[in-house]
Amino acid sequence: MAIREHDLREIRDAVAKLCASFPMEYWRELDRERRYPTGFVRALTESGYLSCLIPEEYGGAGLGLSAAAAILEEIQRSGANGAACHAQMYTMGTVLRHCSEAQKKKYLPKIAKGELRLQSFGITEPSAGSDTSSIRTTAVRKGERYVVNGQKVWTSRAEHSDLMLLFARTTPREQVQKKTDGMSVFLVDMKAALGKGLTIRPIRTMINHATTEVFFDNLEVPAENLVGEEGKGFRCILDGMNAERILIGAECIGDARWFIAKATAYANERKVFGRPIGQNQGVQFPIARAYMATEAAALMAERAAALYEAGRPCGPESNMAKQLAAEASWQAADMCLQTHGGFGFAEEYDVERKFRETRLYQIAPISTNLVLCYLAEHVLQLPRSY
Ligand SMILES: Cc1cc2nc3c(=O)[nH]c(=O)nc-3n(C[C@H](O)[C@H](O)[C@H](O)COP(=O)(O)OP(=O)(O)OC[C@H]3O[C@@H](n4cnc5c(N)ncnc54)[C@H](O)[C@@H]3O)c2cc1C
Repeated sequence: MAIREHDLREIRDAVAKLCASFPMEYWRELDRERRYPTGFVRALTESGYLSCLIPEEYGGAGLGLSAAAAILEEIQRSGANGAACHAQMYTMGTVLRHCSEAQKKKYLPKIAKGELRLQSFGITEPSAGSDTSSIRTTAVRKGERYVVNGQKVWTSRAEHSDLMLLFARTTPREQVQKKTDGMSVFLVDMKAALGKGLTIRPIRTMINHATTEVFFDNLEVPAENLVGEEGKGFRCILDGMNAERILIGAECIGDARWFIAKATAYANERKVFGRPIGQNQGVQFPIARAYMATEAAALMAERAAALYEAGRPCGPESNMAKQLAAEASWQAADMCLQTHGGFGFAEEYDVERKFRETRLYQIAPISTNLVLCYLAEHVLQLPRSY
């Protein structure tokens, strides 16, 4: 695959070029109708970007997390929305480290070729929320199958994915010593499961995110689709979560850079009181502040990605990168809207769409308070508060 030889600068330029063939009107129309960007996802798949983390022996580009982060950042920086397909990258954190050789051989080459999509990650449940160990979806082993019952919510892209990484309880919470034990991860063939114990219902939201709720009613999953060891799934998910935090951080940095470029251009061009609005410090300073916050977040994201790639612990850095980047993108979004005055509300400027889209990252994949709880407990050694 061509991108194998490229360095990050070349990857960035190539992604930006691909994104330029999907103009802002494309994203506006999809947003209006809440439609999935099938053409964009196909183009990214065919160019090999979505399989950049899959090792070469399985048909991918075998690149590191920094390359994946650069790809997602460029997508967001172009004004597009990579949320339609980012899961295929962040699920790799779990898949590459915990799937068996047989599972990798079965699925990865097809994912790399674009014959299968792994875009769905089912963790969150309505009653458990951020308290993942309280999930109620169960998978009970019956011979060579697990029988799954329960419900997930906010399972994004479920209607556009062939495979789902599903997190379910295999031993009741009361029967395990540590509440994070007794949970397991499964690779679910969604197309085979639809109508045979799996039901998907779309949820309309303030952004175009193809998110859904998913119901399991005696869904049978072959035992060979268990990922890693039964009961030790929390560990598998944690490995995926650090990758997810870093990649979402990169998307936020891309968003922030889009807002900053958009605001700067507008502040230079818009004349009020006979001069560009950008000549006023009241307009300049928020742009400069957003820029500073973005560059600081980008440094943390780079550090987290370097640790992840070196196989070193990176929980604090990944969480800080995600949080700082999500805060920087929201700061930049607010600044950009303010800089545009009334025109920021007009659909054709794309600011209001990106403003709504980037707000998500204060909540998902982990809400800001929970990142702070994590740092307080695990880094600062304060008493656990949750
Ligand atoms: C558009 C969208 C897409 C999503 N996609 C996916 C997906 O693909 N797969 C998936 O599994 N999930 C997905 N999610 C779910 C997302 O990860 C959760 O919404 C998020 O983790 C927060 O959980 P919750 O919504 O249940 O909030 P809750 O856990 O109910 O929390 C509500 C509020 O209370 C705060 N809070 C809760 N407990 C504490 C505490 N102890 N201390 C301080 N504050 C606290 C939280 O910070 C939050 O602000 C998505 C969500 C959205 C909105």
